[in-house]
Amino acid sequence: MPLSNDPFVLQDSRLLRHQPFVNGQWIDGDAPALAVDNPATGACLGEVETLSAASVNAAIDAARDALPGWKAMTARERSVRMERWHDLMLEHADDLARIMTLEQGKPLAEARGEILYGASFAKWFAEESRRAYGEIIPPPARGRRLLVLREPIGVCAAITPWNFPCAMIVRKTAPALAAGCPIILKPAESTPFSALALAELAQRAGIPPGVFNVVLGNPPDIGKAFAAHPAVRKLSFTGSTRTGRVLLAQAAEQIQKVTLELGGNAPFIVFEDADFDAAIDGAIAAKFRNAGQVCVAVNRILVHETLFGRFTECLAARVAALKVGNGLDPDTDIGPLINAAAIERITALLAEAKADGAKIHTGGQPHKLGGLYFEPTVITQINPCARLWREEIFGPVITLIPFRDEAEALRLANDTEYGLASYFYSRDLGRLFRVAEGLHFGMVGANTPAISSECAPFGGIKASGFGREGSSHGIDDYLEFKTVWIGGI
Ligand code: ADP
Repeated sequence: MPLSNDPFVLQDSRLLRHQPFVNGQWIDGDAPALAVDNPATGACLGEVETLSAASVNAAIDAARDALPGWKAMTARERSVRMERWHDLMLEHADDLARIMTLEQGKPLAEARGEILYGASFAKWFAEESRRAYGEIIPPPARGRRLLVLREPIGVCAAITPWNFPCAMIVRKTAPALAAGCPIILKPAESTPFSALALAELAQRAGIPPGVFNVVLGNPPDIGKAFAAHPAVRKLSFTGSTRTGRVLLAQAAEQIQKVTLELGGNAPFIVFEDADFDAAIDGAIAAKFRNAGQVCVAVNRILVHETLFGRFTECLAARVAALKVGNGLDPDTDIGPLINAAAIERITALLAEAKADGAKIHTGGQPHKLGGLYFEPTVITQINPCARLWREEIFGPVITLIPFRDEAEALRLANDTEYGLASYFYSRDLGRLFRVAEGLHFGMVGANTPAISSECAPFGGIKASGFGREGSSHGIDDYLEFKTVWIGGI
C-alpha cells in the first residue's frame, strides 16, 4: 500500500521498507498485512507484509544455514562489518530518527538520541567480538592440557518492544552478531519501519544473507515458532513481565537460553541532604522521557518529609510547563502515547487513585489536543496499595509519597515485585554506599538519572527478568564455554 497523507520525507527513501527481510532478501508476505499508525495524528503511515508460522520456520532454517559461514569468519571480519553498520546508522541518523518519531511518537531530538545510543552498541560489540577470549587453565595432572573455548551459541531470536524501536534491537542483535550467531528479530507491531531500516543498513554494511533477519507477523505464532525450532538456542526479550513469563515457559521445551528485560517500578528517593535542584532535574529527566514509556522510568518518588511540600510544588510547576505535542515539533517535550489502550489504562489507574483519595497537583486527564495525548500529571496522597503505586505506569504520571528516615525509604522502595532501575539523591558519603547496597534493583542511579550506556551492564532482578545487556558481559549470553581436555602430551 502506498504511504498515505502523512509521508515519510526521507533523504534516502530506500530506508523505508515494507517487507520482512530474510536470508538477504525482502520477501513477500503470506499472512495478513499490518497497518502502522502515526500516534501523533492517528493517520495510517503504511502497511507492512507479514509471514505465516511456516515462513517464520523457513527464516529460522535460513539463519541455521548461515551459521557456519558467519561463525567461521574471523572476529575482525565480523567486526569490520559491524563497524560499518554503526557508521551507516550515524550517517542516516536523521532519517532513522524521523521514521522513529513518525511511528512511535517520541520527540525528534529524543529519537535522534536513541539512534546514537543504539548505534553505540554496534560499535561496542564490534570491539568486544575481538576480545571473546578463551582460557588456558593450569592442568590438574601431568601430561594433560586444559583449554576453554568460547563458541557462538547458535541461532538467536530476539523480540523487541515499541518504546525504543532502534536501541533495543541493536542492543540484542549486536552481541549476537559479534559472537558469531545469526539472529532473527521480531520487532513490535507498532514500530516495524525502524527495524526494517536497520535491516537495510545491515545489508549495506555487508552482513551476509541469513545472518540478520527481520520477521513480522502474529506475535504469539512467531514466539511459538522460535520456541519450537531446534536450531534456536537463545531468545532475548524486552517487554512486559506478562509476555516474558509466556516466553520463558515456552523456552523450556527446547531448553533455550533466555535473557529477559521486563517491567520495572523504579523508586526515586530524595533524602533531606540531597541537592534539591539536581533532584528536581533528575526526576523530570528520569520520568518524562518518551512520555514515561520507559522500563527504567521513575514510577514512584519518595521524598523526605521535611522537603515534601516544597519538592512537590516545584516538581508540579516544572511538569505543568512541559509542552505536549507532535514529536516533529521542535518545542515538544512530551509526545503522544503509543495507542488508545495506553490512554485508557492510565485514565483508569488515575480514576482508581482519585476515588481512593489521591490529590492531583497538575494534569490528570487526556490532553486537550485529543487523540493519544495525555497531560503530564503529578499526584500525592496515594494509597501504597493503589495500582498506580504498585504497577508500572508507562505514561507521564508520577506519584510522590513522604518518608521519615532512611530505613523507611528503603522499605518502601524495595516493596515491589520488580527490580530493574532505582534512583536516589543524597550528598552523604556513607548513605551513598548504604542505600546503593540496600536497594534491591539491578541498577542504581545515585545523584544521576542517566543509567544506561553501552559500556555498563543493563538489566534487572526479580520480576524484571535476568541477564545483562551491554558492557563486556553482554556478549556472554551469546557464547558457550567449551572445555577441551588434551591428554598424552
Ligand atoms: P506491550 O504490552 O508493552 O506491548 P508486550 O510484552 O506485549 O509489551 O510486547 C513486547 C513485544 O513482545 C512485542 O514485540 C510484542 O509483539 C511481543 N509479544 C507479545 N506477546 C507475545 C507472545 N505471546 N509471543 C511472542 N511475542 C509476543
